[in-house]
Amino acid sequence: MQSSRPIETDIVLLGAGHAHVEVLRRFAMQPEPGVRLTLIGREPETPYSGMLPGLIRAEYTHEQAHIDLAPLATMANARLILGEATAIHPNLRTITVPGRPDVPFDLLSIDVGGVPVMPQDAGVPVKPIGRFLDRLYRLEATLPPDSRFAVVGAGPAGAELVLALAARFGGYFRLVLISATADPIPAAPAAARRAVRQALTDAGIELICGVTATALNDGELVLSDGSSIAVATALWTTGVEAPPFLAASGLDCDPAGCVRISPTLNSISHPHVFAAGDCAALEGNPRPKAGVWAVRAGAPLAENLRRAATGQRLT
Ligand SMILES: Cc1cc2nc3c(=O)[nH]c(=O)nc-3n(C[C@H](O)[C@H](O)[C@H](O)COP(=O)(O)OP(=O)(O)OC[C@H]3O[C@@H](n4cnc5c(N)ncnc54)[C@H](O)[C@@H]3O)c2cc1C
Repeated sequence: MQSSRPIETDIVLLGAGHAHVEVLRRFAMQPEPGVRLTLIGREPETPYSGMLPGLIRAEYTHEQAHIDLAPLATMANARLILGEATAIHPNLRTITVPGRPDVPFDLLSIDVGGVPVMPQDAGVPVKPIGRFLDRLYRLEATLPPDSRFAVVGAGPAGAELVLALAARFGGYFRLVLISATADPIPAAPAAARRAVRQALTDAGIELICGVTATALNDGELVLSDGSSIAVATALWTTGVEAPPFLAASGLDCDPAGCVRISPTLNSISHPHVFAAGDCAALEGNPRPKAGVWAVRAGAPLAENLRRAATGQRLT
């Protein structure tokens, strides 16, 4: 229900990442009088990353794996601005979204995710997921059978992705996984590492370990040991860094460009700016760059935005 109280605090949610979906859900369940919410989303739908491998394997439909932002914003009585923010001015309290006047805020929350660390023009980044899916579908439609796809990065996301692609392609294209470490998913227990190796073998996926990919030149993926392999394309799921406009905004950021935040989820340098998910770095206790952490941040983020808007102490 619309509150009749005048707007006293403008909260802008930048990016429709996992944490902000939960913030919107919570404000929908419990509106805050005097607060106006605005969501800036780059695409009209946001994917749920945990369902990406299932979507690639065609176990889920596009609709099942995506959240439509318009009804979600309506439910939370939030304004929806569809556009890509290119700059934040934390001291002026405005955000630049090309093609429209700057968006003002009293409180800002940033959940714009991250992008894989990769050389320029070396293939297809798997994040942002929406753009990745479009490019994957185009490659599938144009590449000849038996083309070789490289997946670069053998953390959990890379391992899941290459296995999902193997199931999707059914042998039509070849796959190779490039692992910087001696084993894929190096942080997992030995039994899990063995299981992944076995699954890769069973799926007919080639595995190259102990090297990083450094460039993609004329269909040759160049590896750090000086060798190269012929590939039609390379899909990158390497470590995550934040979009550069965050560090350029003057917010205190870590070397990967992620906003340094305190345990109350607000910026160390600009306390009226909050951040969550892959684009945030919790001081002294960095969280893995995983969707589950972004989802978990949603509830405390909603609570602290509410508290900040109503002048209460953050928890
Ligand atoms: C293949 C694969 C499988 C994965 N599987 C899992 C899994 O099973 N479990 C798990 O926990 N994690 C998984 N992950 C990791 C997960 O994708 C990320 O950790 C998660 O998406 C981070 O969530 P987020 O909210 O920080 O950002 P995101 O989910 O990336 O959302 C950011 C949003 O902000 C928008 N945005 C970005 N820039 C702008 C801008 N300038 N202006 C406006 N909007 C903008 C984007 O369009 C996007 O909607 C997987 C990743 C991959 C690649």
